[in-house]
Amino acid sequence: MGKVTGFMEFERLEEGYKPVSDRLKNYKEFVIGLDDKQAKTQAARCMDCGTPFCNSGCPVNNIIPDFNDLVFHGQTADWKEAIDVLHSTNNFPEFTGRICPAPCEAACTLNVNDDAVGIKSIEHAIIDRAWSEGWVKPVLAKHKTGKKVAIIGAGPAGMAAAQQLARVGHDVTLFEKNDRVGGLLRYGIPDFKMEKSHIDRRVDQMQAEGVKFRLGVMIGELPKDSKVINWAKETITPAQLSKDFDAVLLTGGAEQSRDLPVPGRELAGIHFAMEFLPLQNKVNAGDKLKDQLRADGKHVIVIGGGDTGSDCVGTSIRHGAVNVTQFEVMPQPPIEENRPMTWPYWPLKLRTSSSHDEGSEKGLLGREFAISTKEFIGEKGKVTGLKTVRVEWQNGKMVEVAGSEQTLKADLVLLAMGFVSPVATVLDAFGIDKDARGNAKAGTDFIGGYETNVPKVFVAGDMRRGQSLVVWAIREGRQAARSVDEFLMGFSDLPR
Ligand SMILES: Cc1cc2nc3c(=O)[nH]c(=O)nc-3n(C[C@H](O)[C@H](O)[C@H](O)COP(=O)(O)OP(=O)(O)OC[C@H]3O[C@@H](n4cnc5c(N)ncnc54)[C@H](O)[C@@H]3O)c2cc1C
Ligand code: SF4
Repeated sequence: MGKVTGFMEFERLEEGYKPVSDRLKNYKEFVIGLDDKQAKTQAARCMDCGTPFCNSGCPVNNIIPDFNDLVFHGQTADWKEAIDVLHSTNNFPEFTGRICPAPCEAACTLNVNDDAVGIKSIEHAIIDRAWSEGWVKPVLAKHKTGKKVAIIGAGPAGMAAAQQLARVGHDVTLFEKNDRVGGLLRYGIPDFKMEKSHIDRRVDQMQAEGVKFRLGVMIGELPKDSKVINWAKETITPAQLSKDFDAVLLTGGAEQSRDLPVPGRELAGIHFAMEFLPLQNKVNAGDKLKDQLRADGKHVIVIGGGDTGSDCVGTSIRHGAVNVTQFEVMPQPPIEENRPMTWPYWPLKLRTSSSHDEGSEKGLLGREFAISTKEFIGEKGKVTGLKTVRVEWQNGKMVEVAGSEQTLKADLVLLAMGFVSPVATVLDAFGIDKDARGNAKAGTDFIGGYETNVPKVFVAGDMRRGQSLVVWAIREGRQAARSVDEFLMGFSDLPR
């Protein structure tokens, strides 16, 4: 423990944000990370708990008290050791240090009656310093095994698995239907939350470690009318892949968006969030698009109150929307969580993202809770508005409030109600059993974890667990890599 009385002496310090007027001019990151001195003070707040709840609250089980202690001591050698500690459980702390909702902080013991240790901001400081000092280097396998592994889907789960497997000497090929690596981190999560150069740096590192990337290659097929983004130029059948490789790991995500099949859904101007967000990522990457779906000059309604919806808000505001209204069918949660009731679990409270702050500061944002859409209305085939009704929740059932119907203006409606499952045709092409929610069926047990019903085919990430978080995808990618390694070699030194 760095400073015994640190938690009593120092207050939690949040990372800084650039002013809204500056950040709305572009799609760049705007968080100002802690400097070394601030990180030291924040790390001094850690109590080095005998049972560190932060460690079990973190899906990758980051060894948080240890890196906090090192950052507190603050010598260059300590910071160097801190990145080793961080990398021992997490392949990509620069991703999680930016966009993780930090369940570790909800679980931190200090969060019971004070503000949690700023674990995420310390993680962010450690990895950014490590990159700027040149401490992040390729880790080369000591020997080659001659075993060939195909990984399908280059999101965080596939990337983590590929890196782990290459480091123990397997010949890894990562297939991706889109034209760039990163999955939803690349095409989904806006650049203002995470710039894509962070992914490119890791791709360079992984290539140096021996991972081969095959971009624009679809394994299996999407249904003909599918709205799932697919920039593949080539298709390979699952049968071919199984023939060419000793093991196959599926990390294709849960890409099937949840639809809203109410009257008027066919009108032009109603789109899934994932028809909107990836195009802006592409433009930011320098691609020229003929028909980018944009929100300029439009009254935008975003249906869905979560992260994806909030990303649609931030992107629409940057486009120059006239106004943006975000709908959530659930009632507004309390401003403050009930800590004794929820700690160390994820608390229910009103979450206000940086995109919400931007919209509020500019007077452009409305947030509506307990509201449901009954119908889309339009003229000449284009959406012009929505008919809504207020709802109440009684015994877990949604009940409409009589007389609360309203019509709201909208020229662009973005559906951000989450994802139902992976694309069924891809799983079917492999012959993989599904669970009740349509995800690929596989357990996470110590032995045989992540194995599907199909011989030598494994699955991890959102494709197995359903729509989730980047940090869970990294955990599953790492654990599945160990299972694949065990399957190929009969034992594995990879961590679980
Ligand atoms: C808009 C948005 C914002 C989000 N914000 C956050 C956030 O702030 N923090 C957070 O932790 N999480 C966030 N998430 C969730 C997070 O991005 C996902 O949980 C995570 O990316 C899942 O990782 P994955 O590797 O399992 O799958 P994905 O990231 O979905 O990657 C799957 C990849 O597989 C490819 N693929 C699929 N099928 C095939 C095939 N048959 N052949 C070839 N390639 C294929 C896809 O093209 C894709 O690139 C967000 C999600 C969205 C949509
Ligand atoms: S729970 Fe909080 S105070 Fe305790 S070791 Fe973890 S970060 Fe430190």
